[in-house]
Amino acid sequence: MFESLTQRLTRTLDSIRGQGRLTEDQINTAARELRMALLEADVALPVIKSFIDKLKARALGAEITQSLTPGQAFLRVVQHELTEALGGTSEPLNLRAQPPVVILMAGLQGSGKTTTTAKLARRLKEDDKKSVVVVSCDVYRPAAIEQLRIVATGVGVDVFPSAVGQDPIQIAKDALAYARKQFADVLIVDTAGRTTVDQEMMAEIAALHAAVQPTETLFVVDSMTGQDAANTAKAFADVLPLTGVVLTKVDGDSRGGAALSVRTVTGRPIKFLGVGEKTDKLEVFHPDRIANRIIGQGDVLTLIEETTKKVDAEQAQKLAKKLTSKKGFDLADFREQMQQMQSMGSLESILEKLPGGAQMQAQLKNVNAEKEIRRTVAIINSMTPQERKFPDLIKASRKRRIATGSGVEVQEVNKMLRQFETSRDLMKKMAGGGMAKMLRRLGG
Ligand code: GDP
Repeated sequence: MFESLTQRLTRTLDSIRGQGRLTEDQINTAARELRMALLEADVALPVIKSFIDKLKARALGAEITQSLTPGQAFLRVVQHELTEALGGTSEPLNLRAQPPVVILMAGLQGSGKTTTTAKLARRLKEDDKKSVVVVSCDVYRPAAIEQLRIVATGVGVDVFPSAVGQDPIQIAKDALAYARKQFADVLIVDTAGRTTVDQEMMAEIAALHAAVQPTETLFVVDSMTGQDAANTAKAFADVLPLTGVVLTKVDGDSRGGAALSVRTVTGRPIKFLGVGEKTDKLEVFHPDRIANRIIGQGDVLTLIEETTKKVDAEQAQKLAKKLTSKKGFDLADFREQMQQMQSMGSLESILEKLPGGAQMQAQLKNVNAEKEIRRTVAIINSMTPQERKFPDLIKASRKRRIATGSGVEVQEVNKMLRQFETSRDLMKKMAGGGMAKMLRRLGG
């Protein structure tokens, strides 16, 4: 996320950071380099202009020139101005309205609307403990309705059925009536998108808006399209009273132009970032934390929040108990351990939140620990419960069956079993000792 922008900015800031004094020339040079970096990042011009003007005004003022550590002071000013450009403070969803709170999702086709609907439903259900109903009003594409049904069912929220050919406005009204009857806290309405902004789509979404009177109208936009993302959002904001923007595919965006442009161009806050395809890959947008990430200072707060949320304390404790029990460590436990590792997030997403981690990330491109873990889990999934409990049962013909079932070669099954044995031996040695204690602490 934003790697290329971060790399350019840190280079400029590093050259200034250690300076005991800053001359006007040095400040001008740094400002020029920052301007280039923002241009390359595809940030909208008015945003760059206002950013650089403010930066210079403050940098040439007493705050920096009279500071004992002018390099640090300059960095603080950059951090502050970036935070402002990103919107200043974070603006959470308004969930205080009379339930069901309606959230209307708008956006172009392929922007990630349906995926974001499911991610949001999951977050509201798991973190905010809300009961959620979702509905698709995309009556033009049966695949879209089916996609929402699958992902929303996957996260365990209620899906109000809809079908091609029905009237989208009527669907939305019926879904709202249903959500009321169910005493649901939130109704998320996914809508049809087209490939470009057109009048028909605008008219339909405006009519939907009038029919369900949403508390939140979120515009979902692909951050990879740079400042165009901000312009598309503005076109929508001119027709619909948008309450916020969700930037998606930020995981693949190395430039950051969309994030830095949206607020100034649309006047609307970014509320969430989509940082992956899976339903847990949605981050609350905190301008100050993102500014820190952009200048290479990392975002340890988000990292801690994510990790503590994901390590399931109860599961960790259960595992710790098992390790010290007589029954010992079997393949089902091994799988559980793998899944816990998996849920902590990829190495890459952890690194980018550590100060200086962006540089390390580049060197780690080829490590694919996640894939290994997924394969291990798939192999264990293909076993019978008895095989998981008594791995010694797994001889040649069972191995062939397991390999076929999980789509791997028999060698992979052998390799996995060897890994398991190594782990089990290690566990035995450590039982009651280090690992179990560590896990218990994690769970405590
Ligand atoms: P819709 O047409 O707007 O409903 O878009 P979809 O939700 O179907 O998403 C289009 C594609 O983008 C799908 O392949 C999604 O998996 C992918 N996608 C959505 N959000 C993200 C994200 O935050 N990161 C990544 N990498 N892919 C995403």
